[in-house]
Amino acid sequence: MEHCELLIIGSGAAGMSAAAAAWKAGVRDLVLVDGASAPGGILRQCSHRGFGRAVFGSEITGPEYASFLLSGLQNTGVRLLTETEVLSVTGNRRALLSSRTGLRELGFQRLILAAGCRERSIGSLPVTGTRPSGVFTAGQAQELLNLRHRLPGREILILGSGDLGMIMAAGLQEAGAHVIAVAEQEDHYGGLARNYHRFLEPSGIPLLLRTTVTELYGSGRLTGVLLRQLDTGAQTHIPCDTLVTVVGLIPDRTLVSGLGSPDWLSFAGNCHHVHELVDSAVAEAASVGRLAASALAASKHDPDIFPEVRGLYR
Ligand SMILES: Cc1cc2nc3c(=O)[nH]c(=O)nc-3n(C[C@H](O)[C@H](O)[C@H](O)COP(=O)(O)OP(=O)(O)OC[C@H]3O[C@@H](n4cnc5c(N)ncnc54)[C@H](O)[C@@H]3O)c2cc1C
Repeated sequence: MEHCELLIIGSGAAGMSAAAAAWKAGVRDLVLVDGASAPGGILRQCSHRGFGRAVFGSEITGPEYASFLLSGLQNTGVRLLTETEVLSVTGNRRALLSSRTGLRELGFQRLILAAGCRERSIGSLPVTGTRPSGVFTAGQAQELLNLRHRLPGREILILGSGDLGMIMAAGLQEAGAHVIAVAEQEDHYGGLARNYHRFLEPSGIPLLLRTTVTELYGSGRLTGVLLRQLDTGAQTHIPCDTLVTVVGLIPDRTLVSGLGSPDWLSFAGNCHHVHELVDSAVAEAASVGRLAASALAASKHDPDIFPEVRGLYR
């Protein structure tokens, strides 16, 4: 079985930042693994400007930010494995890796999980009716549009006015779709003011506040949704072929659920908590990388430095 000192799962902004920081702090046996075909994570599909204000003092696109982070790994010995999905992690510090060459086990001393977050889907909402095709999460729609250059549909309703909802509304309209409206259950848009003023406001797409989707129609493809105004109870049938949901992100820790909180495990980026801005994910992940390096260095002097600490809190 292969072995490494530090394994980082996820080469999005957080994983790359943690890897660069850990390398700089002295970790020389480091594997960074990602199921996708290239590093960058969510940044790869975010073609809008709006990233890096704190780090660069100006705004760049997601792919530009990813290239910048990747350049920090060049001339290091960080082993980057793409198209390699981690299927499981066990309590005896082994990860099962799946790639084109098959399955293999990788042992590690410490693990940083930087696997990002999951989008809540329509299934998690109290929406009745049929379950036709044409219902996408915003991430799925964004990947279709920005990476595969395809529209998810023609007549689109967006549910949720977080940053992603507003960015997608403008992006889909610019790409030629008719975005009917953005429905939001709260009494204010959900995302950053700067994204409202940059994306939603100039697009002229109606923002329907205190409004939600309660029912889907269509067999095969979506043909419409029922919108409910939460204050008046008024219901309106909206014909559409596509619903894009932007209803929340959840840190994705599925790989280590059931392992408890072993002292060799840390979290970085959206896997730790959902970051609105990539700069904050990168800054936090760098400190997670440095801490992992310190723990590895300390354990070289004393193979198990933690029992004493644990004893203090029992
Ligand atoms: C649509 C959208 C728009 C945004 N817009 C802005 C903006 O304008 N400005 C800004 O500053 N911030 C923005 N953000 C926030 C910022 O981009 C993110 O917080 C940040 O990029 C998250 O990085 P991450 O590394 O934590 O996660 P991710 O980028 O999601 O990376 C996680 C990586 O882990 C990999 N992975 C997951 N599970 C496994 C596994 N089992 N095996 C192998 N690999 C795995 C995935 O393939 C992925 O590459 C936006 C976020 C989103 C979602």
